[in-house]
Amino acid sequence: MVLSDYVTTFGQDLLKRYGERVHKITINAGFTCPNRDGTKGKGGCTFCNNVSFSPNVRQTALITDQLETGRQVIAKRTKAKKFLAYFQAYTNTYADIQYLTDIYEQALSEPDIVGLSIGTRPDCVPNKVLDLLASYKERGYEIWLELGLQSAFDTTLDRINRGHSLAEYQQAIRAAKLRNIPVCTHIIIGLPGEKRQHNLTSLERILELGVDGLKLHPLHIVKHTVLAKQWRQGEYQPLDKLDYITTAVDMIERTPANIIYHRVTATASTEILLTPIWCNEKWSVLNGITTELHRRNSKQGVKA
Ligand code: SF4
Repeated sequence: MVLSDYVTTFGQDLLKRYGERVHKITINAGFTCPNRDGTKGKGGCTFCNNVSFSPNVRQTALITDQLETGRQVIAKRTKAKKFLAYFQAYTNTYADIQYLTDIYEQALSEPDIVGLSIGTRPDCVPNKVLDLLASYKERGYEIWLELGLQSAFDTTLDRINRGHSLAEYQQAIRAAKLRNIPVCTHIIIGLPGEKRQHNLTSLERILELGVDGLKLHPLHIVKHTVLAKQWRQGEYQPLDKLDYITTAVDMIERTPANIIYHRVTATASTEILLTPIWCNEKWSVLNGITTELHRRNSKQGVKA
């Protein structure tokens, strides 16, 4: 009994399409974020840790060196020979187009890199960036635009200081779909003021727009954040593991089977995670989701 018996997972989808394992290698290209530098806001989202925040885009290791380190780490676990370069840290479209072209193409120039996953904010994907990504897709690369939405409720987005609205997300996904760029949207379960029904409504609104992939995350409380302060002052109660599993399964059941789950939980660095500690028991959470789907005699899409 494994998760992919019940859920359309990204790993299995890639395996089917490429005939072999394709792994992601995470890249930190030293980006900043417009919600930190004052362009959109200051201080960032209330849950975002800023310890590793680097305002200098040139300070990080070369993309090719990061890819090589990633290959070596993955080689200890699997025999994967193909990889996706995952530009993950902060806002990976937040620079001028020439710089973006340089760093994306550094990754694509490696023969074992089959494509890119680009993590960013919905208010940070101008047409020229989308055109660039569409041109890679036309050249046959695997391209994913990962949009952090977290909630489809503007009241929640305001409360967590996201600095963008649902309307900006709607505009971004429509512009990406026009160019045939697959979009994976991130949703957080356990945001302040939200209950299970908020997550289900967020999912419904996102699905209506034709999303191709989803990532679910539990809300982590990490050091040096506004959320940590709110938690210490008793203004926020973290989610418990059972609630997370139940809500994630409810969402999976309501997601059509052709939508790819890139992730159904996430961990945080133990050095900065304050609570809930169960977030870091990744396998226990994944097993909990699988067991719950099995117990319900259910699977992705049964309630879509
Ligand atoms: S958009 Fe992302 S990087 Fe920027 S403040 Fe929010 S969580 Fe942090």
